[in-house]
Amino acid sequence: MPCPALVLCVLCGLLILYGCGSVASVRCIENPPNPYNRFSPEYLGEPPPTKLEVFEETATKNVITKAFASDWEGGWRYTVNCYRGCIHGCTYCFARQYHEYLGYGAGTDFETKIVVKPNAPHLLREELKKCRDRMPHLDFSFATDPYLPLEASFELTRKCLEVCAEFRVPVGVITKSPLVTRDIDILKRLKVTVFFSLPFLTKEKSNPFEPFTPVPEARFRAMKTLSDEGIATGIGVAPIIPGYNEPDIPGLLEMAKESGAARAFMSMLHIDTDSIEEYFVQRMHERLPDTRVVKIVNTIKRERGGTLRHRSYKERSTGRTEQWEVTKKLFDFHIARLGFNVRSRSAEIEPGPGPASSSEAMQQRLF
Ligand code: SF4
Repeated sequence: MPCPALVLCVLCGLLILYGCGSVASVRCIENPPNPYNRFSPEYLGEPPPTKLEVFEETATKNVITKAFASDWEGGWRYTVNCYRGCIHGCTYCFARQYHEYLGYGAGTDFETKIVVKPNAPHLLREELKKCRDRMPHLDFSFATDPYLPLEASFELTRKCLEVCAEFRVPVGVITKSPLVTRDIDILKRLKVTVFFSLPFLTKEKSNPFEPFTPVPEARFRAMKTLSDEGIATGIGVAPIIPGYNEPDIPGLLEMAKESGAARAFMSMLHIDTDSIEEYFVQRMHERLPDTRVVKIVNTIKRERGGTLRHRSYKERSTGRTEQWEVTKKLFDFHIARLGFNVRSRSAEIEPGPGPASSSEAMQQRLF
């Protein structure tokens, strides 16, 4: 791996591990103004091309994050993220806002300035020594994909899973990457469910919103590989983008069933900040015909009562129209028909996001 420079960033205190000038440019810098910064750069003419930058976060003291979820058992969930930012670059990703807390942008910065926590496995071990008894399970996801491409080299998720196996902590993983199959040996030692995020049936439908992720077909293949090895798998039909991917629901669930998944949830698109809204809409205009964009925007606005953003946390992952009720019924009908989320004795003691009697219960647990 190239390592041309080690530079301490005086602004954020992060150690720049690789200044990869040789990495191919993939797009131009495009970030909505960061509300936490006093100034935002404006470029005269074409913005410069992006390049991949990897930062090492050495000051991290904790790697387990505790977050409140009103309908989670006990109200709390615990997550582990070994990275910040995500090369997969899904335009709808709610984790984009977390990059703004670091002083970066929620647009291409989120996709190309990746923060790595090399101490994560060590910190996880130290934390579990103190709190294992109070840890019902750990979720690997929510701020980044635990199997983003850098994981192939850094192996931080793998090492953290090894720690979980050592401490016998139940685990949930949510990913879009077949790289997870590399860790079959460890996953087999864990109480785990691996969810694949799969909101679109074809690469043509996925590409405008998930430009740098493995194609849906590759995710289904990985799901089957894990299922064939006896590892519990599930599908996250998330996000549903109103007016765009509702028709994919039956096909996605059928493909997941054929690939061995036993659990499923869905969730409506939620746009949490103005920055994410701006970037999401801008990328749609670049990648979809205008008529399609207008249809999507108007349909989302109907679900949100006139805006693209939800008004309360309660509304975050669900719509408010009859059309959304129809979508939920469509999902629930097919999960019942295909036998997803059937509660069994083994499922009751299974870790991670528990099986839900309805789509909403499951989606709220995860997002
Ligand atoms: S793979 Fe997940 S974390 Fe990464 S950009 Fe997409 S939604 Fe966000």
